[in-house]
Amino acid sequence: MLGRQMISGDSIVALSSGRLPAGVAVIRISGPKSRFVIEMIAGTMVKNRVAAYRKFKAPDGSVLDRGVVVFFAGPNSFTGEDIAEFHVHGGRAVVARMLETIAGFDGVRHAEPGEFTRRAFLNGKVDLIETEALADLVNAETEAQRRFAVQNAEGVQSELYLSWRRRLIHARAMIEAEIDFAEEDDVPGSVAETVWADVRAMIGEIERHVGGFRAAEIIRDGFEVVILGAPNAGKSSLFNALARREAAIVTEEPGTTRDLLEVVLNLEGMRVRVTDTAGLRATPGRIEAIGIERARSKAGTADLLLVLEDMVDPVPIGAIPADIPALKIGTKVDLLQDRSSAPAARYDAAISTKDGTGLAKLLAEIGHRAAAQIGQAGDILPSRLRHVELLNETKRFLRAAVTEDERGQELRAEELRLAADRLGRIVGAVDVEDMLDVIFAQFCIGK
Ligand code: GDP
Repeated sequence: MLGRQMISGDSIVALSSGRLPAGVAVIRISGPKSRFVIEMIAGTMVKNRVAAYRKFKAPDGSVLDRGVVVFFAGPNSFTGEDIAEFHVHGGRAVVARMLETIAGFDGVRHAEPGEFTRRAFLNGKVDLIETEALADLVNAETEAQRRFAVQNAEGVQSELYLSWRRRLIHARAMIEAEIDFAEEDDVPGSVAETVWADVRAMIGEIERHVGGFRAAEIIRDGFEVVILGAPNAGKSSLFNALARREAAIVTEEPGTTRDLLEVVLNLEGMRVRVTDTAGLRATPGRIEAIGIERARSKAGTADLLLVLEDMVDPVPIGAIPADIPALKIGTKVDLLQDRSSAPAARYDAAISTKDGTGLAKLLAEIGHRAAAQIGQAGDILPSRLRHVELLNETKRFLRAAVTEDERGQELRAEELRLAADRLGRIVGAVDVEDMLDVIFAQFCIGK
C-alpha cells in the first residue's frame, strides 16, 4: 500500500493556516525545492525539525518579514517529501509577498486544493479514509465531529476494513487450497465449512456496521429536529428562543411562516438542526399549501419532531408521521390560570417562551435524544456514503459467495476476491485513481 506512485517533481507552496489577517500565518512548501527556498529566504539552511528565528529576505535583498522557519526532511513529513514551513506575521500583504516570492522560484508553484494531502496519500503517509477524516477534522465544528474525525484519522475505521479484508484473503486461500487438495481426494470438507461460516458471520458484521451510518450522518450533518404545530401554537417563538436570536418572524397572523427556517445549534457538543415549519392547518391558501407540503416532507425525514400545541387554545393539526419520535409540547404555560392544573399528563413538556419555563429542560431532552442516536464515543461507523456503497457491494459478493449452487467452490472463491477488492477500495489499498479527484476536491488550498 505504501509508495503508491511518485508525483511530478514540482514543489508546491500555499498558505496553510486560516483566514487573514491573523497573528501568525503558516506558509508551507512541499517538494525537492524546500531546502533551496529556505536557503534563499532565510539565508542559510536550518536544522531538521528545529525551529529557527530568522530574517526573511527576497532575492533582491529586501526584507520580507522576520519569523520562524522549520524544515521537515522527507520521508518523515506530512507529505513524505521535504517540507519547509515559514511562520510569518499574518498580514495580507506579508503573506501575499511571501507567496509571490516563493512561487517565483523555478520549480515552485502554487498548490491546488488538497494537493498536500494528495501527496501524503500518494506517498503512503495516509490512506483514503484517513484522508477523508483529515478533511472532516479540518471542517469539524462540534466536539462530536472532532472526536469522530480524530478517531478515523488515527486509522481505526481503516483497520476494521483491512481486518475484514485480511479475513477474506485468508478465507479464499483456504478454499483454493482445499480445491487443490480435493483433486488429490484426501481432505475432508470441514475446512470449507468453517470458512463459509466465517464469511456468513462477516456479512452480519458488515450489516451492523452499515446500520451505524445514520449515526455518522447525524454527527456530520446534524440531528434533525422539526417543529410542527397549528398556526399560533408558538412555533416561531420557540424557534427563536432555541436560536437565542430573532431568526423567524414572530407574528399573530396565522400562516405567515410559509417557508422552512433552519437554525444550527451546538448542543452538548453535537450539531442539532432545528427547522421551523409552516403552520399546519386545514384550509390554507396556495402559497401556504406549498409551505405545508414542505413541512410534511421535512417532518418525514426528521430525527425528532417537536409537536407544539397551545395549552390554552388547543387546535388539532391532523396526522403527523407516525414512525418518527415526537415530543408533544404544551406551549404558553404562562397563560394558564392555575399552573398546577396544567394538563401535564397530555404533554411531554410544558413550555413558555414568555417567561422561559421548560426551555432548558427541553434543550436538555433534545441533547439527550441526539446523544442516544449517535451511540457511544468510540463506536466505529462508516463515515461516508462512499464507504456504505462499497460495503454494500462487498456484502453482495459475500452473499453470492456463500450461496451454494452448481457453480462450485472455485467461482465462489472468486466472489471472495471481488469482495476483498471492494474493501480495499474503501481504504485505498487497491487502485482508486478514479476516486481521487472527488476526494481531494473536499479540501481547501494549503491542506
Ligand atoms: P406560530 O404561528 O406557531 O409560529 O406561533 P408564534 O410563535 O408566531 O406565536 C403566536 C402567538 O403566540 C404570538 O402572539 C406569540 O407572541 C404568542 N406566544 C408564543 N409563545 C408564547 C408563550 O410562551 N406565552 C405567551 N403568553 N404567548 C406566546
